[in-house]
Amino acid sequence: MSPSRNLPVTIFDPEVIRRYNISGPRYTSYPTALQFSSFSQADLQRAISTSCNKTKDLSVYVHIPFCATLCYYCACNKIVTRKREPAEEYLQLLKQEIELVAPLLESRVVSQLHWGGGTPTFFENEQIAELMAAINHAFEFRTDTEGEFSIEIDPRTVDPDRIRYLRECGFNRLSLGIQDFNSKVQKAVNRIQSYEQTSEVINAARQYGFRSVSVDLIYGLPHQTFESIAHTLQQVIELSPDRISIYNYAHLPERFEPQKRILVSDMPTPDAKLEIFQLCIEKLTAAQYVFIGMDHFAKPDDELAVARQDGTLQRNFQGYSTRSDCDLIAFGVTGISQIGNTYSQNVKEIESYKALIGLKQIPVEKGVVIDADDLVRKQVIKSLICQFALCFEDINRQFGVDFQTYFATELHELQPMENDELLAVSDSSIKVTARGRLLIRNICMVFDRHLETQGSMATRRFSRAI
Ligand code: SF4
Repeated sequence: MSPSRNLPVTIFDPEVIRRYNISGPRYTSYPTALQFSSFSQADLQRAISTSCNKTKDLSVYVHIPFCATLCYYCACNKIVTRKREPAEEYLQLLKQEIELVAPLLESRVVSQLHWGGGTPTFFENEQIAELMAAINHAFEFRTDTEGEFSIEIDPRTVDPDRIRYLRECGFNRLSLGIQDFNSKVQKAVNRIQSYEQTSEVINAARQYGFRSVSVDLIYGLPHQTFESIAHTLQQVIELSPDRISIYNYAHLPERFEPQKRILVSDMPTPDAKLEIFQLCIEKLTAAQYVFIGMDHFAKPDDELAVARQDGTLQRNFQGYSTRSDCDLIAFGVTGISQIGNTYSQNVKEIESYKALIGLKQIPVEKGVVIDADDLVRKQVIKSLICQFALCFEDINRQFGVDFQTYFATELHELQPMENDELLAVSDSSIKVTARGRLLIRNICMVFDRHLETQGSMATRRFSRAI
């Protein structure tokens, strides 16, 4: 089945969206991190040695948690500091963790590397080079033309010289946060970043041969209006990034302390937020960006858009991706690995990380072994969220089940959505309609067996669909 060819355009139906706009996972993993429980070093070693992906390439993620200033909307795991010493100490710990883990993955070739944070460019140039050298020493890499080697940068901490340096270190993709160019919005979220600063960095990335530039925006921030976001979008379109992600600001001050500095009264109303998101979709698609799904847009010739079109799109912790399922090993505090049928996460606190590395232990803390039922559900959710379609026969063949019997309850639960024309169910498939594409999370949630046991409190830990 080639489900994603000739996809219908997205239909924005405010009335239906309002009805379905509940909190739910973004399904960058299934099961989600809420299902993680205790997971030991021995569990991770076993997962690596028994992984069904042993012969495939490897993805590597490195988490660098430091930031020089605090953005009030931020929900990332980060440490805000002006001091340089913690970064140097952390760098040495990262190198030790790599030395501990890499021998277990000896025969794997890395085709995907991502440094995220925090702010990876909090590291000085020499520290970046030192860490890159350690990773290169520990793993074999695909060539520059074959691999995707990306780093998140903060335009406020780099200049064109640093961009050139990053390219020389081996990175070939950049991603950077913009969020909003409006000065009133920037002030309210404590992130002052000019258009000129951002444009200088993006131009330098092109000049020095970065293959792709991705930018992040956020809608729902304080003081954002229809007009202000229209202006920001116009500026972003002029910068012409290859990929654009537009995230819904989830105001959860009880979970994320910095968000307490954002006043609800300054935020756009739910209706205004809907209009803003509709505008984002309209403006970006009018500018020839392909709406990949959920919150991602890409130029038509970008690998992501091509994968979307030919049905090979994937989803991982960074969102949508192009690489076929392969193991992902993460280094650094909070890093989440995906090895074979397991997810596992490193400790969150630097002190615990340091203590475990000091004992020469892999600093993994929790995780999950995905059971047989969740493996089927994972594939169903992946197919729906990436292809917006699902072929029953594919699932039957892959897992030895009869889809309609196995998921009889879920098919029944989908009926109201079918009545609302969000999807069409036949004897052989589920196809998400143009009206249902924006509500893909809700459709996936029907197949998530953990939501009920997690209860409403846990579900509120997720953001809303729109
Ligand atoms: S948004 Fe990025 S730069 Fe700002 S505090 Fe969070 S991790 Fe740091």
